[in-house]
Amino acid sequence: MHVIEGINFSIWGANDIRRESVVHITEKKTIENGTFVKNGLRDPRMGGQKICPTCGENRRKCNGHFGHIEFVQPVYHISWVTNVIHWLRCICFKCGENLIKDLSPPNLQRNKHLQHYSKRCHHKCPTCKERQPKYSWNKETQSIEKSKAFYHINLVQTHLEMMDHSVLETTGLGNPINMILTCLPVPPPTVRPAIMQGTKVRGEDDLTYRLLQIMRANSKLEKSIEDERPEHIVTQHAEHLQNTVTGYINHDKISTGRKRSSKREYTSLTARLKTKEGRIRGNLMGKRCDFTSRSVITGDDNLGMHQVGIPISVAKKLTIPVKVTSYNKILLQEKLDKKPSPIKFVIRPNGSRVDLSFFKGRITLNVGWTIERELQDGDIVLFNRQPSLHKMSIMAHEVKILPYSTFRMNLSCTTPYNAVSITYIIIFKINTNKNTL
Ligand SMILES: [Zn+2]
Ligand SMILES: [Zn+2]
Repeated sequence: MHVIEGINFSIWGANDIRRESVVHITEKKTIENGTFVKNGLRDPRMGGQKICPTCGENRRKCNGHFGHIEFVQPVYHISWVTNVIHWLRCICFKCGENLIKDLSPPNLQRNKHLQHYSKRCHHKCPTCKERQPKYSWNKETQSIEKSKAFYHINLVQTHLEMMDHSVLETTGLGNPINMILTCLPVPPPTVRPAIMQGTKVRGEDDLTYRLLQIMRANSKLEKSIEDERPEHIVTQHAEHLQNTVTGYINHDKISTGRKRSSKREYTSLTARLKTKEGRIRGNLMGKRCDFTSRSVITGDDNLGMHQVGIPISVAKKLTIPVKVTSYNKILLQEKLDKKPSPIKFVIRPNGSRVDLSFFKGRITLNVGWTIERELQDGDIVLFNRQPSLHKMSIMAHEVKILPYSTFRMNLSCTTPYNAVSITYIIIFKINTNKNTL
């Protein structure tokens, strides 16, 4: 038996990206004459096919495989820029000497360590006595500035490469070289499926459009370098490439001059994760699952503090499993024979499950079987109101089935659920009614 001792996370470096990649994407077209273009953004090797050419599995089993785009010139990863700047402050720009005064790990959250080190750095290099410049991020030009002058990304790279690697080992921090992109991982088509209408492709996913923009900007820059165009034009193309990559990762960090207000903006990777409809808040935290129900709450002073009012429609859907024993066998059989029966399912010990909404015959219950019946008065359920900030946000209540469409609770238990604002509204309504009467 193997025991997992720990999991180590690190940044996906350029070599890791190339190793994982199954396609080097070079073509700017996705589909030509009804077939996927080889080395394009929909290359069949990235998966999503009937039979995947890479792993040989079908659509259900293959999750897809990453491809990659090679950049002509390195590009900043917008989410790592602050870390890159912190690292620049920690390394002497002239001799590469480590400027961190104390390398012992601070008593802080892991992601705060680098900031802690960079704040406590030598302003003057102890080896070459050079005064260290100030570094900052310019949102408009999408570049790092050294003492308010443009600091070319190639120079930033060589600056970071001068670092003594023993610093990484003692601090346990990620290598800043990996924080600058020299190639971009391209997610498989399963992550960005095309918009289909029947069997016809009607359009591509926003991410695919973003990636196409990156491809175009990349080849424009490549051409301007090959043609030996004047430096300011090359810089302009490089800036455009940087902007498209930034927009792909996080649209909010794009330079304001480049934002187009008239056109609908494409969603970026960050928006997929952190918005209300995103993966975390939309698909994981707000996941609807079996044996739960969600509705509005209303105060009801006829209910006890231990009770919760459940709408009839909810009570008829939610089920509770009950084991058939010699004590409740007759009672349950009576319920089962009733029409309509409050029992929804009968489960035999061998695991076979009878759905009574389809089964028309009579079933005789036996001890050891399980039935699933709808909610009834007196059942104990867990009641929760988000945000669940403390343990009293989830409490057990006794079910009381009522002919309303909201969950109802005694006003005295609104405080632990932090549902106070609703209480005020109700009290206010009562008062106004009194006045009008
Ligand atoms: Zn596959
Ligand atoms: Zn130095």
